[in-house]
Amino acid sequence: MIVIDDISKRFGGISAVDHCSFRIETGRITGLIGPNGAGKTTLFNIIAGFIRPSGGRIWLDGEDITGLPPHHLFRRGLVRTFQIPREFGRMTVLENLMVVPPNQIGENLFATWFGWRRVQRQERNLQARAEEVLERLNLIHLRDQLAITLSGGQKKLLELGRTLMTDARVILLDEPGAGVNRTLLADLMRFIEYLNRERGCTFCIIEHDLDLVTRLCDHVVVMAAGKVLTQGSMEEIKQNPAVREAYLGSVALADSLNPPQPSPLPSEGSLS
Ligand code: ATP
Repeated sequence: MIVIDDISKRFGGISAVDHCSFRIETGRITGLIGPNGAGKTTLFNIIAGFIRPSGGRIWLDGEDITGLPPHHLFRRGLVRTFQIPREFGRMTVLENLMVVPPNQIGENLFATWFGWRRVQRQERNLQARAEEVLERLNLIHLRDQLAITLSGGQKKLLELGRTLMTDARVILLDEPGAGVNRTLLADLMRFIEYLNRERGCTFCIIEHDLDLVTRLCDHVVVMAAGKVLTQGSMEEIKQNPAVREAYLGSVALADSLNPPQPSPLPSEGSLS
């Protein structure tokens, strides 16, 4: 679905992304891993339209989307999740979901005067949809709480839930597991699996937690020093000596490629 075709990005003398090519296939969960400074975030920001590449093209369903701004890509169903903006922290959890869909009738001043019934109807529909999302996220008990009071893991769930308020088809996730406790991480992974299997969402995930990558990703792309080092299943990646070598600077990550005893995940249905 998305073809990354010979993408490069230079920042002055630094070659952050160096002639990278791979595919993010429809319906798959693709993992993007690599040691610190490998160029993963830069490449993500290029795909999502936040940075223009110095060279190469990005194709979405055969259409050249190189350099298109994020709001154009959003309309095409390509979404990159971000931390909930600080200002949204003063809104409730429910409101954080309800503000997501663009072009709401109530944003038009005249509509709020002359078409308030339509505005109210749309608000009711949005609220019902937002509550459904919160049920699925196991966050419904927090619906009226200010977003700023949520834990790091709950915020990550809410961020992901915001994508369900859109018609996102391709979701780019930057380190969804970072700073999330294992119970919430299990909820988060189940939610990603639900979006992928039941809603047909395609994912590309940058992640340092290789347990998460192993469980979720069908296909893994390894970057090092701006280049695609190798790609394949997580099993193939783990056997690749070049990958271990690339990770050697980061001992913790090298260890997690071959963990001594993986700890079990919390069981189904565990809540925060
Ligand atoms: P991490 O896992 O630590 O987030 P990463 O794989 O996401 O790393 P990038 O953040 O893409 O790597 O950085 C790749 C290289 O590009 C690094 O050397 C970084 O310092 C450099 N870089 C990234 N953004 C900029 C920028 N705006 N200006 C200058 N150099 C940059």
